[in-house]
Amino acid sequence: MAGLVYAPPAMKRAEKAERIHEILEQLYPEPPVPLDHEDPFSLLVAVLLSAQCTDERVNRVTPGLFALAATPEAMAEVEVSEILSQIRSCGLAPGKARNIAALSRILVDQHGGRVPEDLASLEALPGVGHKTASVVVSQAFGRPAFPVDTHIHRLAGRWGLSKARKVEETERDLKALFPESVWSWLHLAMIFFGREYCPARSHDLSTCPICSWAATRRRIAEEARAGGGGPRSRKAAAKKARARRG
Ligand code: SF4
Repeated sequence: MAGLVYAPPAMKRAEKAERIHEILEQLYPEPPVPLDHEDPFSLLVAVLLSAQCTDERVNRVTPGLFALAATPEAMAEVEVSEILSQIRSCGLAPGKARNIAALSRILVDQHGGRVPEDLASLEALPGVGHKTASVVVSQAFGRPAFPVDTHIHRLAGRWGLSKARKVEETERDLKALFPESVWSWLHLAMIFFGREYCPARSHDLSTCPICSWAATRRRIAEEARAGGGGPRSRKAAAKKARARRG
């Protein structure tokens, strides 16, 4: 981060967005897609598997799953129990196995064996929510979409880019602040930033390459009171406070 000149905290949102864009561009000019995939179908399945599961674990199970069936046609013929046996180590595996089987049949029956390119058709598939559909649209088809998960939602709040309480509203705010051409990249850059810089445990926001100048003083004080950087530390801090109150 050497060479970056930090701005004072009282910046407008658009200025913050521009500065954050510059910092993330320096840190992650070309972030890779973390989920291994060969085509839209393997990406769709991998993103579905990544709910409540790390990307590393997904990347460990997908080779075995796609060795069993690599296309919607082939997957539609596989028993749910066989799919489950390949993905068992992922969280929520039974439901995911049922959804993979069901969505493969729908792709064959209703979409000619292809993954649809529009959000509405993707979101109609079992187990595919708005975020999963947005990842597929942007990373498989190169269309503008800004997948916002809880991590990005939390970062946008800390950085003062959105005051929204709901993920959908944060997505709306971020889309208004950044040009369409950077949405897909920014989604990945924010994920990599979070993984590299944001510890789960308590820490000092003033040492962060972005929060140190972008977070409001109120937010820094709130986070410090709550125990710092992540949900686990906040839970621990709340537990301590309850214990103090007796
Ligand atoms: S202050 Fe910590 S939690 Fe917030 S963005 Fe920076 S590194 Fe992440």
